[in-house]
Amino acid sequence: MQTQYDVIIAGGGMVGSTLACLLGNAGKRVAVLEAHPPVDFSPSDPYDLRVSAISRASQRALLEAGAWEGIVARRAASYEVMQVWDATGDGEIRFDAADLGEPDLGHIVENRVVQLALLDAIRAHPSIDLLCPDKIAAFAADAQQITVTLASGKTVQAQLLVGADGAQSKVRDLAGIALETNDYGQKGLVCVVQTAAPHQATAWQRFMPTGPLAFLPLGDGSSSIVWTLPADRADALLNLSASDFCRELAQALDFRLGDVTAVGERAAFSLRGRHAEPYIQARLALVGDAAHTIHPLAGQGVNLGIKDAVELANQIRQTHGDIGSVKVLRAYERARRGDNVLTQKAMEGFRLLFGNTLMPWKILRNSGLSIVNRMSFLKYEIAKRAMGI
Ligand SMILES: Cc1cc2nc3c(=O)[nH]c(=O)nc-3n(C[C@H](O)[C@H](O)[C@H](O)COP(=O)(O)OP(=O)(O)OC[C@H]3O[C@@H](n4cnc5c(N)ncnc54)[C@H](O)[C@@H]3O)c2cc1C
Repeated sequence: MQTQYDVIIAGGGMVGSTLACLLGNAGKRVAVLEAHPPVDFSPSDPYDLRVSAISRASQRALLEAGAWEGIVARRAASYEVMQVWDATGDGEIRFDAADLGEPDLGHIVENRVVQLALLDAIRAHPSIDLLCPDKIAAFAADAQQITVTLASGKTVQAQLLVGADGAQSKVRDLAGIALETNDYGQKGLVCVVQTAAPHQATAWQRFMPTGPLAFLPLGDGSSSIVWTLPADRADALLNLSASDFCRELAQALDFRLGDVTAVGERAAFSLRGRHAEPYIQARLALVGDAAHTIHPLAGQGVNLGIKDAVELANQIRQTHGDIGSVKVLRAYERARRGDNVLTQKAMEGFRLLFGNTLMPWKILRNSGLSIVNRMSFLKYEIAKRAMGI
């Protein structure tokens, strides 16, 4: 194993691993440091709690990274329709892939499946080394390179270090990069459930004043749910018996899929918006959750991170000189910050709009949903933007 690379990526999650493969394909020598390898997969395993709605744009990037086949070979469920409605009125909007002339709106995939398929691509790549389990302990940059010391005591050098090490990024902390945070005071409760009625390859989302509830369709007919709630209410629901929880959940979805007949393990994640300022410094860049986290209500978190990876790989590919220079990295930040900020603010706006119980806001959102639903052009522009096509 060598010690000199073009790029060192701290974090082999979905975003860091996508970036590694894109850079490897561009002929760069890459080291990926990953603290925890993902748990292996067997088709008979129950579905994981953590799934992501992978957009068409992310699917394209994962195809280019050499991982999409490995994802589909394990398991991925396409969804063709998205149905969104307001619990406090009759506002409703429906997006249908068929109306767009597309086979689907995206795929629901377990995070572990995405990561394992990317790790296969990394292991097969001659110019990528996987250093796992290992993590970053310290780094020092000079005019030519950055030297990274690992927890194992090993040192590695590169022109560029990328922090893809998630929301609690050690790279970001060691670099002294500031973080703007917004605690939503909410938790995202996740679990896999069976319902009496079939999910119809539809992603169902009901907005309630306490937060949105999403049912995402899985390949075996079950659904993965993300239920955003005030933190104390989420904790109370975690502690309910399975039968009481199923009753509450079916009611919260307004019985659109009938009774909830079974529930697996439940977990809840605290939800916090974060934004790093800046994303870059000389010889260092942040991508994915290390740079920003957003409210999961539209399932865009990893999709934004993969867009970061694609953009940074493009900037590096186009550079013939020093890929760790501030000039190159600033071009990456300029291209990505606007989209990330806009999406983060839009999610916060939706959360506040749908959380407001005052009558004028109820009328506004219900009539707004119904009007947009009737305006095919606007509706499909929104859908195409979310899909990244
Ligand atoms: C409840 C919930 C539901 C969500 N649903 C969706 C959805 O439907 N669609 C969507 O797009 N997004 C969703 N998200 C967001 C999505 O999960 C994240 O945006 C995504 O996981 C970020 O990927 P990442 O690779 O940047 O970071 P991570 O997934 O956090 O990966 C970071 C990796 O770095 C490793 N690591 C950490 N520290 C170190 C270190 N010091 N050295 C080396 N390695 C290290 C970790 O082991 C990990 O493998 C959801 C989030 C939540 C909380």
